[in-house]
This record gives sequence, C-alpha cells and structure tokens, in this order.
Amino acid sequence: MSKEIFVFVECKDGSIRKVSYELLSKAKEISQKSSSIVYAVIIGSNQDVLANQLKDFADKVLIVDNEKLSKYRWDTFLSVMEQIIKKYKPYVMFGPSTTTGKDIFPRLAARLNGAIISDAVDVVFDENTLKIKKPLFGGKIISWMKCKDDSTFFVTFRPNSFIVENRSLNGELIKENIDVSEDSRIVSISTEKRETKKVDLQEADFIICGGRGMKGPEHFQDLEEIADIMGGRVGASRAVVDSKWRDYDDQVGKSGKTVSPKLYVGCGVSGALHHTMGMDTSKVIVAINKDPNALIFQYADYGIIDDVFNVLPALKEELKKIKKEI
Ligand SMILES: Cc1cc2nc3c(=O)[nH]c(=O)nc-3n(C[C@H](O)[C@H](O)[C@H](O)COP(=O)(O)OP(=O)(O)OC[C@H]3O[C@@H](n4cnc5c(N)ncnc54)[C@H](O)[C@@H]3O)c2cc1C
Repeated sequence: MSKEIFVFVECKDGSIRKVSYELLSKAKEISQKSSSIVYAVIIGSNQDVLANQLKDFADKVLIVDNEKLSKYRWDTFLSVMEQIIKKYKPYVMFGPSTTTGKDIFPRLAARLNGAIISDAVDVVFDENTLKIKKPLFGGKIISWMKCKDDSTFFVTFRPNSFIVENRSLNGELIKENIDVSEDSRIVSISTEKRETKKVDLQEADFIICGGRGMKGPEHFQDLEEIADIMGGRVGASRAVVDSKWRDYDDQVGKSGKTVSPKLYVGCGVSGALHHTMGMDTSKVIVAINKDPNALIFQYADYGIIDDVFNVLPALKEELKKIKKEI
C-alpha cells in the first residue's frame, strides 16, 4: 500500500478538536509502516492559524478557505469533500465519530458509492491492507474488517481511541480552490449558542455518569463536584435525560454520545444495551449499583455493590483529600 490517508479535521469554536489530532497521529503511525502520505483536510473560513497548527501532524495540509464555510453545514461541507476526494482519490478517509462525523461521512460514502465503517476504535496495517477494529452488539463482539475494493473508503473513529503524538512533520500547506455553491433549500434564520460545559463529553478522560438510581436532579451536584476534582464531565443515561434531570448533551449511549474515556464511573446505571453501546470501549469501567445482578457489572472492571448515596459522599471526600495532598 502506498496511497494517501486523508483525515477530515473537525473544528469547534475556533479550535481544532482533539479527536482530529488523535486521528492524524494514528494515520501517521500507519503511514510509516505502509509508505503512505497523510493529508489533513481543513475546511472553513480564515483557517490559516489552525492550518499552521496541523503542519506538525500531517505531510500535507489541504486548506479550503471560503467565507461561505464559516459555519458547518452538511451540504456545503459535503460538496467540498466530494470535490476533494474526486480530485485526489485517496485510499482511505478517516473522520471522527462525533455528531459532525456521523452527519457527513455516511452522506459522503453514499454520494461517492464508497464503503464506510463507522464507530471504529482501532486500525492496523497488516498483510498490506488496513484492518479496522469495531465493537458490535454493545461491545459483546469485537470485529476486524477491511475494505475489499480499490475505491476510497471511509472510517469514523470514536474520540479517545488514540494517543496524540506531535511528530513535528512540518507538512506542506496547500490552498485548494474549490467552488462552494450555496444551493441549499434550507436557510438558517438564527442560531443561539447555549451554555457549554467545561469539558466536551466525547473528549473527556473521566466521565461520571448518573442513571435513574440517582433519584433526582438535585443529587447530580455530587457528581458535578467529583467531575470537577477529576477534571472530567458528568454524563447521564437516557432515563435521566428523558426525566429532564439533565440536558440531552449529557446523554451517553446509542441515541446519545459514544464515549471512550480513560475512566467511566456509572452511578445507579443499570447497563442496558443501548447505554453500554455508547461506553463499552472506556478504558476502565467502574460501576456502583445496589443490585448485584445489574447488567453493568458484566462490563465493569471494578464493581461496588452498594447504595450510591453511601458511596458518593465517601468518594468525594477521599478525592478532595488526595487533591489537597498533590
Ligand atoms: C432506541 C433506543 C435508544 C436508546 N438509547 C439510549 C441511550 O443512548 N442511552 C441510554 O442510557 N439509554 C438508551 N436507551 C434506554 C435504555 O434501554 C435504558 O432504558 C436506559 O439506559 C436505562 O437507564 P438507567 O440505567 O438510568 O435506568 P434503570 O434501567 O431504571 O436503572 C437504574 C439502576 O439504578 C440502580 N439503583 C437504583 N437505586 C440505586 C441506589 N440508591 N444506589 C445504587 N444503585 C441504584 C438499579 O438497581 C438499576 O440498576 C435507549 C432505548 C431505546 C429503545
């Protein structure tokens, strides 16, 4: 294999998302084994500063800069990506399994008649091909897949799947002149920015997730304090979000966000399949549940069979002590 690996760079609030650096780092690791070239593709408006930050992580940085691209819209971004892929015909394109990645990659694959593997967690170069690792059925099965034909294929990876490695590549910056048409039938009337959490749920290294066992929104304060001490984020099950105890933005699971933190702590979460599908690739899973038969214990590396209201205050105090000592 000596073809190009393209990485779609996702930006949010004027910065490059960590997951994009993760994907570029992994792409470079593979390219060193497969003698390929890594391209970062950044699309937006006034992207020069961000594009410069990518130079360390890619052999070539393709910049599509146009004021019509200042805000993410699937139709304009899709049209730009389509033109880039038709021009360069890369072997593979990596993207993040985030809301944006999930929005654009399946459309791109459909439009270009390419294969897609979504929500993957690893990739290796072996037997002269890329092999992609993807959990199935809520993590009960781990499958390895490859693309059997020669057309560009698309892969989205869960955030936190790879380590960021700056290889100081000093990659070449290439400005792409691409026609950005605005033929959408949907016009944005207004947008309102909602209060954002300190840490992005999908990029958090630590998530403490509350389920219906937390009994009410007022008890999430303990989880907030623990998340603050750990520099992480509070998550929630769908039962909690449906009860309006927490925002949808916090939901972990199939119809919420897929997360892979270094440490996930489930508090009063039963471990239903639709929930575990979104967190089973967490590096370490701790479950606190008073029911010893709760499904979550099947996924947990460490389980505490107890009432969350006994465990959480003790955990919080202990963490505060440790933090003071550091
Ligand atoms: C199409 C579809 C998509 C879905 N998507 C999602 C999704 O994205 N995310 C998601 O989470 N769910 C999703 N669900 C819902 C999912 O199937 C479960 O219903 C939900 O995850 C249950 O939430 P829970 O574990 O908080 O509540 P419950 O299932 O009610 O579990 C509460 C748990 O808390 C324990 N408990 C109670 N009190 C205490 C206490 N004091 N101390 C310790 N433990 C206690 C109980 O033993 C129990 O195990 C989806 C369902 C469908 C059909």
